[in-house]
Amino acid sequence: MSATLFTGIGELATCEPTLGDESALGLLHDAAFIAEDGRIAWVGRASDAPAADERVELGGRAVVPGFVDSHTHLVFAGERSAEFGARMAGEPYTGGGIMTTVAATRAASTDELRATASRLLAEMHASGTTTVEIKSGYGLDVATERRILEVASEFSSETTFLGAHVVPAEYMDDREAYLKLVTGEMLAECAPFARWIDVFCEDGAFDELESIRVIAAGVAAGLLPRVHGNQLGYGPGAQLAVEFDAASVDHCSYLSEEDLDALSLGDTVVTLLPAAEFSTRSRYADARALLDAGITVALATDCNPGSAFVTSMPFVVALAVREYRMTPAEALVAATRGGAAALRRTDIGRLAPGCSADFAALDAPSHVHLAYRPGSPVVSQTWREGIRVIVARPE
Ligand SMILES: [Zn+2]
Repeated sequence: MSATLFTGIGELATCEPTLGDESALGLLHDAAFIAEDGRIAWVGRASDAPAADERVELGGRAVVPGFVDSHTHLVFAGERSAEFGARMAGEPYTGGGIMTTVAATRAASTDELRATASRLLAEMHASGTTTVEIKSGYGLDVATERRILEVASEFSSETTFLGAHVVPAEYMDDREAYLKLVTGEMLAECAPFARWIDVFCEDGAFDELESIRVIAAGVAAGLLPRVHGNQLGYGPGAQLAVEFDAASVDHCSYLSEEDLDALSLGDTVVTLLPAAEFSTRSRYADARALLDAGITVALATDCNPGSAFVTSMPFVVALAVREYRMTPAEALVAATRGGAAALRRTDIGRLAPGCSADFAALDAPSHVHLAYRPGSPVVSQTWREGIRVIVARPE
């Protein structure tokens, strides 16, 4: 059993309010911590640090918990830059382009899917992400959905079955047949590779009753619920998520007073995806209303080839500060501890004794640089379970 002392930390944001200055960030200066067997064993001032077997000097850098990217669609094929270009030329986002990615994904080999996911994951690691949730949803047939989740589970234990992303083109005239498939055979084939069940509850995707059927079937198969909702307009997604005690309802660009009331009474986290709003040039969610109501907020990339081809959590933090008017501290907590809450995890997203030693060291004196230097490579080192992640970009 070997213990490593990480020291020379100019500013340590533990994201644990019982530590340091007892703010939401739990800030310590001139700090150190010890990692033992991949877990944090001690946190405190560098001058108080106990002896350890090894020592890593961080040269005054700021250290933050590794980002928890709790919403991605990482396994797919192809790209949709033409659609993005058209949208930037004035065409609205409708979600209809999903079928373009479905066609490319069905045609791709498993090795191709694995290679693309691996390349994007390398980008994520380089920008400080240490946990990533990965959804299916670009197969929409039994074999491809299963293949996507097999690949996803090679990279993460946080995998989500999203067969109910949209009704695929070949079922347009028989939605009921697709619902039977997605709650029947497809679910049975995919559940062994998934922890979560998700549904895109939105006009143009699945309505309230259909969404209830999808979630209920997933729960009956042993999966835990999460929901895509209230992205393109007001709708039942948020309240449905609370009724099912879903871990998270994601997007939430359009929330009514009733939605806010329901969310403030439940344990469902609201996961905001400002990169999707940025890349589709659509309305930003009202993060201040959520925070002011005491609702737990998470930030995630929504990495996907259609509405947010983004892997960088620092970029998402910068957007949240600029466009949601979150403080840099609120945005950092949402990108770490909030993401962990959206995955019902307490062992990640914080740098406190007992937690996984997952962290990013910044080439900066303060976490504020994540938002202050948007688009700049502020993350200099990423560590997972006390081991440095060496990012080798695949050919
Ligand atoms: Zn999504």
